[in-house]
Amino acid sequence: MTTLGVTGGIGSGKTTVCRFLKDLGARVFFADDEAKRIMNDDDGARRAIREAFGAESYDAEGRLNRAHLAEQVFGDDEQVERLNRIVHPRVMAAFERAKEHAAAADERLLVHEAALLLEAGGDEHVDAVAVVDAPEEVRVRRAAQRDDADPEQVRARMGHQLPPRELRRRADYVIDNGGSLEELREQVKAVWSQVAGRRSC
Ligand code: ATP
Repeated sequence: MTTLGVTGGIGSGKTTVCRFLKDLGARVFFADDEAKRIMNDDDGARRAIREAFGAESYDAEGRLNRAHLAEQVFGDDEQVERLNRIVHPRVMAAFERAKEHAAAADERLLVHEAALLLEAGGDEHVDAVAVVDAPEEVRVRRAAQRDDADPEQVRARMGHQLPPRELRRRADYVIDNGGSLEELREQVKAVWSQVAGRRSC
């Protein structure tokens, strides 16, 4: 079994690439979904979040108070880092468990999709990294359309990620998503045939 990290800037097409990889037979681990699950359900994470950001981090029913947490970390890199130190190691541990399951099920490819894969050290947990990229104006337009959001809001979120040049430099595979969905699918097929073939080496 091979593991592949899929990362890229906001609106670059990571989720779409993973959907295509899934169609080809890959199993996909979505780090953001896992992070949400951890913040809601993991006792250790809940305790650490309460200690760091206050009891109001959870409401009377015990549900995560996302608005409060967002307020605590918004625009404050140190607080974002503090939250990441609670969540990221637990996401990586969950990925390691997903790897064991995928290997036991004799899967060919397990994909780790994460916007901050490299920033969180996730590249050390995968065999190869694919970076999805598209010109910034295309990414902003697609993400704004998808989220029905203001392009300026999308741009503000982009500031927290490594610049695309740096992502591309650290990639084993670069998937250029400036074109059509069909062109994207062809590139994904090419990556699939290279990485899913690795196990026979
Ligand atoms: P985020 O980091 O914001 O979650 P993402 O990298 O996962 O974004 P996607 O959600 O896959 O990006 O793509 C962003 C939007 O652009 C989606 O609505 C998707 O359907 C659309 N999209 C992706 N690639 C293309 C393409 N080649 N042509 C047209 N639309 C596309």
